[in-house]
Amino acid sequence: MNKAVFLDRDNTIARDVPYCSRPEDFELLPTVPEAIKLLNEKDFKVIVITNQSGIARGYFTEETLSQIHKKMKDELAPYGATIDGIYYCPHHPDDKCDCRKPKTALFRKAAAEHNIDFGSSYMIGDMPLDIDAGKALGCKTVLVTTGSNISPPDTRADYTANSLLEAARWIADFKHAFGYMKT
Ligand SMILES: [Zn+2]
Repeated sequence: MNKAVFLDRDNTIARDVPYCSRPEDFELLPTVPEAIKLLNEKDFKVIVITNQSGIARGYFTEETLSQIHKKMKDELAPYGATIDGIYYCPHHPDDKCDCRKPKTALFRKAAAEHNIDFGSSYMIGDMPLDIDAGKALGCKTVLVTTGSNISPPDTRADYTANSLLEAARWIADFKHAFGYMKT
């Protein structure tokens, strides 16, 4: 089975533009290409899981969202950084769907399609709902504080990083995983 790093999009990979509705407004955060390349090199599947209720709200279409995600992949490619899958929830919170984070349907779909073992996988995000989803699946969790307005940060996460690159280095380092072998 594969190990994966699940990534939130807004405020984790990309500058948070509320309801980003135009490809030209989409902007990767600093160090993100290096971080994703490092995870690629360590044989993690890199999977983006994102809530995009702007679709249900009528702010943008799924076609526009796919253009935004094409831009994201195109900007990573020159760095040799690859995203293996992108899964989004298009619903409104009031829809009570089972795919909007912290619900886990999108993660389970990704796991089925990419043969992912949650127990050897990680969730990185900037919001409590990202940490909740990761924990519900048995993944390790990393909170990134990049551009986050949340204070104090969510201390339930296994690790807190100030950038995606710092998070990726912590995951790649693996020293924390040796805790399992000490007993
Ligand atoms: Zn949904």
